[in-house]
Amino acid sequence: MKRRIAILGSTGSIGTQTLDVIRQHSDHFEVEVLTAQSSSAGLIRQAIEFRPNSVVIGDEARYHEVNNALAQYDIKVYAGRDALLQIVEMETIDMVLVAMVGFAALLPTLRAIEAGKPIAIANKETFVVAGEIVTKLAREKAVNIFPVDSEHSAIFQCLAGEFHNPIEKIILTASGGPFREKDREFLAQVTKEQALKHPNWSMGCKVTIDSATLMNKGLEVIEARWLFNVAPQQIEVVVHPQSIIHSMVQFADGSIKAQMGLPDMRLPIQYALSYPQRLASDFPRFNFADFPELTFSKPDSEIFRNLALAYEALGKGGNMPCILNAADEIAVHAFLKDKVGFMQMTAVIEYCMQHVSFIPSSVYEDYVQTDIETRLKAEEIISRLS
Ligand code: NAD
Ligand code: MG
Repeated sequence: MKRRIAILGSTGSIGTQTLDVIRQHSDHFEVEVLTAQSSSAGLIRQAIEFRPNSVVIGDEARYHEVNNALAQYDIKVYAGRDALLQIVEMETIDMVLVAMVGFAALLPTLRAIEAGKPIAIANKETFVVAGEIVTKLAREKAVNIFPVDSEHSAIFQCLAGEFHNPIEKIILTASGGPFREKDREFLAQVTKEQALKHPNWSMGCKVTIDSATLMNKGLEVIEARWLFNVAPQQIEVVVHPQSIIHSMVQFADGSIKAQMGLPDMRLPIQYALSYPQRLASDFPRFNFADFPELTFSKPDSEIFRNLALAYEALGKGGNMPCILNAADEIAVHAFLKDKVGFMQMTAVIEYCMQHVSFIPSSVYEDYVQTDIETRLKAEEIISRLS
């Protein structure tokens, strides 16, 4: 039986690479649902190639365009947020792959878990905002969550066969982004064009900017805390510019396991889709002779303050990581619109962490409110900065 996959955010970087994997392994997987927010042309093209049962276009104004283009095919077309929330419950879906960006992925993910669907998840914001709720619900519903983020996939792979051995420490590797070892003066002048050029990975805009500020690593620390149920002090970040070791786990006896390979998101995507099986692939192989040196250093969280802010938010708990996340989403958006400078993104986040109401023990509705309140606060401070 082929595994029938729903891809939320199929037109993005992770979404299209997921379709590459499915195309290569059409004997194992088939596409049941595709969704996108506004890229109607991409969604139409994908639907014609993969012939899913249904597609959802988030932007309702694009419904007619998608519906007309797919009228001659046996594909159901829906539009809007409610349709996205309902589609994940569809009986014929065997697995939901969450490749949407930002806070928007939280509710569809919760709905999919509620409906008992195994989850493969690239979206880290979901864990940052509501990791406790998501993992608790998954336990209650006995739903497996398979990480797609390369670091978390690496950890998951290191844990295979070790599930009864306690983790002493998780070592998350970070490339350091394009501005590793740069000083404050340089960073203050950085343009979005420079920040969008990642040395090792080609990704969507939000995660690329987050990688340049090290916020991505901060979000991944919080993601790891919830995915692997470890305390914040058990998670260490190490800068490893070559991005060959994707992360490591240290066990109680001091042994460290690492997962290695050339940086290629298709590998963690494929592992999440095919777990526990490893399917053959033609992805380029790592050759030690090409990498005579693999190097490691401590991250500079004084210059790259976002990493320190993420640890701080995780330590405070409650809705603080949700504040961090919403402020970051708005700050990155403003940077991409040339409304704030590179270093000002951190100032926006810090301001929101100090000025949005802190709720120590939060429930889902608190996160929704916090997200709204933080976005307003962030917009307010950005309009004063620019
Ligand atoms: P992207 O911007 O390339 O794609 C985002 C996708 O989500 C698109 O299909 C878009 O149509 C859809 N989308 C955007 N906003 C939406 C909304 N409000 N409602 C519904 N759909 C919406 O992003 P990406 O780089 O593929 O990243 C997706 C997620 O995976 C992010 O959370 C990112 O942090 C994580 N991630 C990405 C990579 C990578 O290599 N790109 C690696 C690790 C983790
Ligand atoms: Mg990652």
